[in-house]
Amino acid sequence: MPDPVPFDPSESALATARRAQGRGLCPECFGRLFGRLGHGLTNPERTRRLAARVGEDPRPPAEPCPVCAGAFGRLDVWVERAMRAAEGYEWHRFTCGSRWEPELLAREEALWVEVGTEWGESIRSAFNRELGKRLEARSGASGGIEHPDVVFLADVAVGRVETTVLPVYVRGRYRKLDRSLPQTRWPCRRCRGRGCESCGGTGKTYPESVEEIIAAPFLLATAGEGSRFHGMGREDIDARMLGRGRPFVLELLRPHRRTVDFVGIAAALREGGAGRVEVLDLASAAAEEVVRVKEANPDKSYRVGVIGNVAVAKVNEALDLALARAIAQRTPTRVAHRRADRVRTRRIVAARLVEAAEGRFTLDLRTEAGTYVKEWVEGDGGRTEPSLAALVGVPLKVDFLDVMEIHDTEVA
Ligand SMILES: [Zn+2]
Ligand SMILES: [Zn+2]
Repeated sequence: MPDPVPFDPSESALATARRAQGRGLCPECFGRLFGRLGHGLTNPERTRRLAARVGEDPRPPAEPCPVCAGAFGRLDVWVERAMRAAEGYEWHRFTCGSRWEPELLAREEALWVEVGTEWGESIRSAFNRELGKRLEARSGASGGIEHPDVVFLADVAVGRVETTVLPVYVRGRYRKLDRSLPQTRWPCRRCRGRGCESCGGTGKTYPESVEEIIAAPFLLATAGEGSRFHGMGREDIDARMLGRGRPFVLELLRPHRRTVDFVGIAAALREGGAGRVEVLDLASAAAEEVVRVKEANPDKSYRVGVIGNVAVAKVNEALDLALARAIAQRTPTRVAHRRADRVRTRRIVAARLVEAAEGRFTLDLRTEAGTYVKEWVEGDGGRTEPSLAALVGVPLKVDFLDVMEIHDTEVA
């Protein structure tokens, strides 16, 4: 019967095979010396094909094999170790790797030199592949390097499998209707989160946050062990976030379940948000979206209520002047403790007086990303130049501030 897989080693390969005999190598390690020769064969098959050409190895495989120490004979044990290590977690895709003693890898490379092979495959890559194949068959999950749910690392010397359960990512947009809610959890300044008298043992500066409200039903649904919240920027605690909301990605750490019922969670959020937080456009996300959200620099639109005695004509004149030139903003005093002190140039892209009454008026603004709106209105003691207050020539104070739109994607 003709052999379906062709294997036609050169004279030089056959000479290498003769040099490799008599060393007590197991069929896997012998064949792996020729691992990059021919396709569609396992390494033990390569060993058999070569033996048919140069004769059986006069020395039977040593116990244990001088290269792999029998690791390939115990692949099924490694499969079971991996299965146990991931028990209790839902996984559909996996990657596997292995850790070997450096001396063993050095022995293998020395052998390549001794027998003069040009076709050797490393023990690590062969082991990972063989473990992956068996793990696919055992678990029904699929192996590969793209977007794994779990990564297995077989520590061959120690005899243990370490698992990394990858996060589940979800994205959405949130609206914040409460002027006392921070975006993320703020650890108490005094105890740094451990819990003390001043924070009532909670470890937090504020009892709740947008992050915690949104993460709660997801943590419940996935039995995740923690979460990380990535907003596309953040608004001040006392600013509302309106319009289509602010894009975010939520990372659920070490989730036990990965299949998320978005309809159920949206319902839980309507209840849990209790009119303080609303969530739109929930969907699953990829890890890369964290970077996209963090690096986006969209314009923002604001509605800002200002207290100050200025005539309507004077406000309009000042807005025209403000639109005509860039503003220079030094890092505001209120954030100077966590941001580098420097001067940035920003633009007010659009500005409009919405309404005016005795001693107060309301503006709609569109600004470039990173503009400090409060400081632009009030002046921040001359750190923003020119400020609206400077342009109207009267002290101004921001009464309220709402973010009306994050212009990450334009809507018609
Ligand atoms: Zn071996
Ligand atoms: Zn505290």
